Amino acid sequence: MNGDVRRTVRAHSASIVCGMDKPSTFPFRFRERLYAAARLVPAVLRWPVTRLVAILLVPVAFCRAPGRARCLACQWALGLRFPAEDLRGLAPSALAAFTRARAEAFWRDGQVIGLTSGYRDAELQRRMFTEEVLRTGSVAAARHRVLPAEESSHVRGLALDVRPVEGARWLERHGGRYGLFRVYDNEWWHFEYRTAEPVRLPHPAEALRTRP
Ligand SMILES: [Zn+2]
Repeated sequence: MNGDVRRTVRAHSASIVCGMDKPSTFPFRFRERLYAAARLVPAVLRWPVTRLVAILLVPVAFCRAPGRARCLACQWALGLRFPAEDLRGLAPSALAAFTRARAEAFWRDGQVIGLTSGYRDAELQRRMFTEEVLRTGSVAAARHRVLPAEESSHVRGLALDVRPVEGARWLERHGGRYGLFRVYDNEWWHFEYRTAEPVRLPHPAEALRTRP
């Protein structure tokens, strides 16, 4: 995929959150102030505050996307709860599945799910793999935790590392309805968008032998 095509795909991915046809236009400075304020909220109050923010944002979201107001309001509220997360670069199908799944988790079961790591460019994945090789002392051992760029679903925009553990458990139980599956025994946080449920593998090093 050349640079222009990749940029187009990434821009499109960022624009389809909750079925929206435009990316978020929250003013940058206002958003930064909200993020700073969100960091001051004590841990015990984070869920009630996040839920209250989402409820207050529903009417605003309704003006933007009447059919998906709750999903969009949840997306905005979780953006404040997890200010470091970056949904850009995910494949459109994976992004849509993730945002819809975590909206259901949020509104129905009161469970927040944040993204720790989604799309990674090949250079970053190469660096991570090299560092893991140095840390573990061998390519074979490194592959148990990090795959080379050409094999990684993160580079293809189809993998999502999530948090917290409770959110990952929710996704493991219900994510299949959205095509999101946990695929490795040794990575509770790693999910992938698939069109069919994959065979669960002990670790990423097993991926090459069974990948369709
Ligand atoms: Zn991962």
